[in-house]
Amino acid sequence: TSPIIVWFRRDLRLGDHPVVAAAVRSGRPLIPVFLLDEVVETHGAAPKWRLGLGVRHLARRLERMGSRLVLRRGRAADVLESLVKETSATAVWWSRLYDPDSIARDTAVKTRLTGIGVDAKSHPGHVLFEPWEVRTRAGGMYKVYTPYWKAVRGFEAAEPLPLPSRLPVPGAWPPSENFENWRMGAAMRRGAGIVGRYATVGEEAAHRRLNGFMACRIDAYDTARNFVAREGTSGLSENLTYGEIGPQACWRAGKRALAAGRKGAETFLKELVWREFAYHLVYHTPQITCRNWKRDWDAFPWSEDENAPAVIAWKRGRTGIPFVDAGMRQMYVTGIMHNRARMIAASYLTKHLLSHWRIGLKWFADCLIDWDAASNALGWQWSAGSGPDAAPYFRIFNPITQLDKFDADRDYTTRWIAEGHSRPAPEALQYFDAIPESWPISPRDPYPDPIVTVGDGRERALAAYENRGF
Ligand code: FAD
Repeated sequence: TSPIIVWFRRDLRLGDHPVVAAAVRSGRPLIPVFLLDEVVETHGAAPKWRLGLGVRHLARRLERMGSRLVLRRGRAADVLESLVKETSATAVWWSRLYDPDSIARDTAVKTRLTGIGVDAKSHPGHVLFEPWEVRTRAGGMYKVYTPYWKAVRGFEAAEPLPLPSRLPVPGAWPPSENFENWRMGAAMRRGAGIVGRYATVGEEAAHRRLNGFMACRIDAYDTARNFVAREGTSGLSENLTYGEIGPQACWRAGKRALAAGRKGAETFLKELVWREFAYHLVYHTPQITCRNWKRDWDAFPWSEDENAPAVIAWKRGRTGIPFVDAGMRQMYVTGIMHNRARMIAASYLTKHLLSHWRIGLKWFADCLIDWDAASNALGWQWSAGSGPDAAPYFRIFNPITQLDKFDADRDYTTRWIAEGHSRPAPEALQYFDAIPESWPISPRDPYPDPIVTVGDGRERALAAYENRGF
């Protein structure tokens, strides 16, 4: 009868949730907990704020079911130990995470709690395949995507776990901190009011998103997913990153669509597997988040100056390259950037501007509401050429021909760039309401000339690669 503490982190849902299902099955009281701990404290502005929206949503949902979400701030091991003592809980369960910071925190928690006789247990749920379960024939990790995909594509997800109708509650609740005092959106400043219009928060909304995608967009997904002005993709990364929907639910839906002969279904499954591959890599080679995955890139003379004028222009969407600038502004206004724009913006920073991918990785980690340590690291190292199965270093995206191909009518750039237009689009103007007031830019400014032209940047990058003997 002793309570189980269910520690929510990036699994902000109640249905199809292995920990919640197991805890409910046990018949013991559940104490749902969220911690503003040492890992969450380090999150960038937008991910931290968006996580807060998810936490508040989950708390309200639990309250409607007669339960609660207990909020505490501090080092996870300390806070959980004291919660165990306050509540006489004998178990603390959580959904496993795989990035190096989370692993370090969770290992410390497990050591501390098992040391005092608590059943401290991690469960699956954040990924489809545990990173150590998918192995090459020789027993090692996969370093290339296609064989990884072939190894996992036949997997059938288990039946969904039930959404509990009620959660057994403890005799007495431990005190909770006040969510508003945490000010999880403080670093967003006025941007929160703008980005908030685009966020789609919570488990029910995530399922609506998946269902809507499967009903209306999956058939055209193969091609539409590349056209930056179209709503051709699922938009699920925002929800997957906070576990408002589990990857199993997406996989099941994709498999059903495949069985029904829906065009685009296999591509969707393949994209979900890119997320899995990112976790496989981050688990086996955690240095992917901070160092060149291919060590021969260590001597490459990337600039690490975050305050270089070119880097500042890139962050502010003022490079004079419309595809790059539109992507950077879309991210600032909505917290999301289209995948193709991410590739173009990353390629321009690391190749045309010869700036280190870590600068871009950090900026995305501050601005994206779908920020995910594994996918962001893979995306950046893939784009820069230093990562596993990366775009070859000599493939330098041409942001002009790419725009001709994927935004021929210039709908995307017109939507996001105000300068040079007598009647700018509302989204383009929202950008100026979202950015810090200290940025000296206005919609009435002329649109800048390229800080580095497509041709010059390409020549410079190729020369740098040649000098390095690539
Ligand atoms: P859909 O096309 O509908 O795909 C379905 C799901 O598959 C996505 O929700 C996502 O979970 C997964 N997926 C799709 N493409 C990729 C990919 N290339 N890598 C990993 N998973 C993928 N994705 C993040 O979730 N968080 C990040 O922080 C992130 N940073 C990136 C940084 C760079 C430089 C690049 C090039 C890509 C990054 N991506 C990141 C991957 C990708 O851009 C997004 O997952 C995608 O744009 C999400 O849109 P969607 O949900 O509509 O995707």
